[in-house]
Amino acid sequence: MSNAVVIGSGLGGLLCGSILARHGYKVTVLERGAQMGGCLQSFVRGGIRFDTGFHSVAGLAPGEPLHRIFEPLGLMRLPWRKVSTPDQVMVDGITHSLPHPADIPALARLKPLAYYIGTEFPEEASSSAAEWLESAGLDPRILLGVTLRLQSPLSEVSLHEYAHIAYHFMNGSWRLEGGGQVLAQAIADDIRSRGGSVLTRKEVVRIGPADDGPCQVVCADGSTYQGIVVSDIHPLETAALVRPSLRSSYLKRLSILKNGSGIFTTYIKLKQKQIRYVDNAISIDGMLVHFGNADDQGYAVSLDLMTHVEEEIPDRETFAKACISRASASIPGLEKAVEEFWTSTPDTWRRYTGTPGGSAYGILKQQSQLSVCVVSPRTPLPGLFLTGQNLGLHGVLGVSYTAVRTCSVILGAEKINQMFNFAQ
Ligand SMILES: Cc1cc2nc3c(=O)[nH]c(=O)nc-3n(C[C@H](O)[C@H](O)[C@H](O)COP(=O)(O)OP(=O)(O)OC[C@H]3O[C@@H](n4cnc5c(N)ncnc54)[C@H](O)[C@@H]3O)c2cc1C
Repeated sequence: MSNAVVIGSGLGGLLCGSILARHGYKVTVLERGAQMGGCLQSFVRGGIRFDTGFHSVAGLAPGEPLHRIFEPLGLMRLPWRKVSTPDQVMVDGITHSLPHPADIPALARLKPLAYYIGTEFPEEASSSAAEWLESAGLDPRILLGVTLRLQSPLSEVSLHEYAHIAYHFMNGSWRLEGGGQVLAQAIADDIRSRGGSVLTRKEVVRIGPADDGPCQVVCADGSTYQGIVVSDIHPLETAALVRPSLRSSYLKRLSILKNGSGIFTTYIKLKQKQIRYVDNAISIDGMLVHFGNADDQGYAVSLDLMTHVEEEIPDRETFAKACISRASASIPGLEKAVEEFWTSTPDTWRRYTGTPGGSAYGILKQQSQLSVCVVSPRTPLPGLFLTGQNLGLHGVLGVSYTAVRTCSVILGAEKINQMFNFAQ
């Protein structure tokens, strides 16, 4: 049996582990944190469970892209719940439901791109989403309004990213009872049931060629693992662990890639029976509002406010209060309904997931140079492969695609096409 070592237990690492375990590899996932899941982690404050980087997903209806990946992996049996109302975007004080019925025929032109699965980009993929929307007679301020789901700045959002993320969210979204940790746990259980292991507090500090296997990985505690290696961490951070160093032209190419901005989140515990629960996400001038669960009478118990930030926020409390005040424009009475709140900043993400500079979605996939920004799963070290949000698209859908692409490079396209029925 061949060994596969996965560095990082984010969604990308876990999915690669599960796919490889199903193809006969003995998989070991090494996670440096105390909790697995990366951006799928959740935490409890004030008796309420909050999700960190996972709130809702799109593309889960039969035939849609995420369903095609999750169904063969047994992940459709998880308690997914379709969101009952469409996302809303508030622009200049006016709330719009997405999509407006009049916009649907034009948006339907994006369907082939949104369903495109392949490693080569169709020509239109690298065009600007904002320009495409304008040329189609659509209002980018409204349709790019769910900004937090897209990279920042919006001028760099490609049609590829727009079609694979925003388009699918407009066709419906799903939430997972129990949150992102349930997804991470299910994939980890699958790996373990196939003889693999998922180990926490295992920080990888070195990767190199092995005497009797493709690669050797060394952890901070001195333990070593051998096999093919799939790294779910930033390509430049991965490269920094490789000894002897990878060739300088490869490192130079990685070092010119910019990372996207971070996210500031205000996690709010609400006073009882003050604010009605809303199932959909609401974007208020770029800030995304996601409600937590409802009580038995339909009142919200918590909500998260998320906004892109370009730099660290020194005074978290003042910034969080300003976010709450902004959200009050769409949620009357919110300021008075806050019982307690907590915050996370880019620095929190840097500490928890190791993402450089606290970037939320990793390498910025700039539409103006998309083919340069999309990194290959292959590396110059034979047996070392890359996966995760830094390579292709971010988000649950994007990272799942990328995991499939990485495994296709390792196992061959034929096995992957067969497993996921991509030929259909
Ligand atoms: C605030 C926020 C909200 C989001 N909301 C949504 C949403 O609602 N819907 C959606 O689809 N997507 C959402 N996303 C995006 C989505 O969560 C991510 O794109 C995805 O989960 C990233 O997965 P990943 O596997 O690429 O990386 P990560 O989740 O970052 O995993 C990388 C893992 O590697 C580990 N690691 C790092 N260095 C080492 C090392 N040296 N040794 C061992 N382990 C190491 C880290 O600890 C981490 O666990 C959100 C993201 C953020 C930040």
